[in-house]
Amino acid sequence: MGSTTQILPLRCGTIRAPANALEVDGVGDLTLPVYAYLITHPSGRTMLFDAGLAPSHHDQTVSKVFRNELPEGHDVAARVLAAGFDPARVEGIVASHSHYDHIGGIALVPNARIFIHQKEDLRELDTGHDLVRTDDSLDLFGDGSAEVFATPGHTCGHQSVRVWREGGADILAGDACYFCRSLDREDTDQPYPFDKAQYLETKRRLVQMRADGNFIVPGHDESFLDNIPRGSAIRVSPLSRL
Ligand SMILES: [Zn+2]
Repeated sequence: MGSTTQILPLRCGTIRAPANALEVDGVGDLTLPVYAYLITHPSGRTMLFDAGLAPSHHDQTVSKVFRNELPEGHDVAARVLAAGFDPARVEGIVASHSHYDHIGGIALVPNARIFIHQKEDLRELDTGHDLVRTDDSLDLFGDGSAEVFATPGHTCGHQSVRVWREGGADILAGDACYFCRSLDREDTDQPYPFDKAQYLETKRRLVQMRADGNFIVPGHDESFLDNIPRGSAIRVSPLSRL
């Protein structure tokens, strides 16, 4: 446990899909990593941002085109345990949004409260956990070290987390941008955002945050692991990779 709030990226499976389901002009197929992020506070408190795939998704195809793989031992609870933390003591999961690849592992984290934006659709979220409906901003640990903030567009209640550190913040963007390269395109690169105008407005905010010295972690692109800036709160380990 460090003296500051830290982020441990945990790789929780893979989705294979036609590129044009994920990126305008996409060609061929893409294999996407799926992540959960363990956020560890110096007090010993732990939270997750997203929960990855459910074991039941392994070898299954969702919505006809999304082919999922979740190898044994790669689910969120196994990853948290392998990182040296107790999944039963994770006190909260911030759900970026309610798509299956972000909330699938919630059932494996039994005692967590689920922080989900008040505008987000709850139909997929029938896990029996306590829900906290978030507004546009939430101080996650109550000490200003990490903030949940609204990033609508991909879904109407999409939200992200930023963990402050010297010189800026590390921003877990979720599916507000799928890829590192998404922020270098000015168009609506996602073929099917819930709201195109909101998606673009959120993307412009992320581009500005990046220009201001913050580090943006996209939802489904492992190349961020090779570009972690000095002083970042992110701790990369073998659990961050397949
Ligand atoms: Zn996703």
